[in-house]
Amino acid sequence: MFTRAAKSAKSVPSAERLAFLQRHRHPLFFSPRMEFFWAPSPNDNHSLVELLRQGGVIKSQRVAEAMEKIDRKLFVPDKAYAYMDNPMPIGYNATISAPHMHALCLQLLENHLQPGMHALDVGSGTGYLTSCFAIMVGKEGRVMGVEHIPQLVEQSIENVKASAAAPLLESGRLSFHVVDGRLGWPDEAPYDAIHVGAAASEVPDALLQQLKPGGRMVIPVGDEFQELRVIDKQSDGTLKEWCETSVRYVPLTSRNEQLRC
Ligand code: SAH
Repeated sequence: MFTRAAKSAKSVPSAERLAFLQRHRHPLFFSPRMEFFWAPSPNDNHSLVELLRQGGVIKSQRVAEAMEKIDRKLFVPDKAYAYMDNPMPIGYNATISAPHMHALCLQLLENHLQPGMHALDVGSGTGYLTSCFAIMVGKEGRVMGVEHIPQLVEQSIENVKASAAAPLLESGRLSFHVVDGRLGWPDEAPYDAIHVGAAASEVPDALLQQLKPGGRMVIPVGDEFQELRVIDKQSDGTLKEWCETSVRYVPLTSRNEQLRC
């Protein structure tokens, strides 16, 4: 979803690794700190997760387990490229984010996706990340996916039904709704974690209001140049925020505007 430049010597592959990679002509793999190195193109979900772990994007066992359980292939339209670390078009001028972006967001939200917690995924698209959230908060938790393209919501429900998150969908702990995500989903607020999968010009007020004190929001902000912002609501209600990295997401906009592009 975005490109990154080499930053440190840490990103340079060893001679042995380079020889291996040259032999296999592997594509570029991007790590979360804008370093890049050559890495094998995975051909199953387990290898993808391992690659993201080796690249340092996945740092925790819980994130690795959630991504292992939710097979990306079940959520993408073009199965042949399911495990490549790239975003992919899903129709309606939307994309599923690249696996390293999903992993990064899961890492940033991990402490707010503990068993029993509540999460909101705005712009749920394929339902992939929403399902990872549901696995992490478990059967005592609650995850809402909101998305404004009805066909994407229908498809996401079908995707989830085939996945390890199906029981959570059946029990109602995971649900999807057709709605303008800029308004959030007040019925289940406040949320421990809010993720926004599309770039907002400004952080929507409704989402800030629906964030629990002690909760965290991860949201791409900006128009042409965007940054992935992490916003923590302190226990006294004040906000602390920082920019994690530069990104490129589709816009958080009206349905008409999105379909007009
Ligand atoms: N995170 C998802 C999708 C990312 S693409 C995934 O990886 O599969 C961003 C999604 O946001 C698209 O599906 C788009 O339709 C949706 N979107 C954009 N503006 C929206 C809005 N105002 N309300 C709800 N969804 C929106």
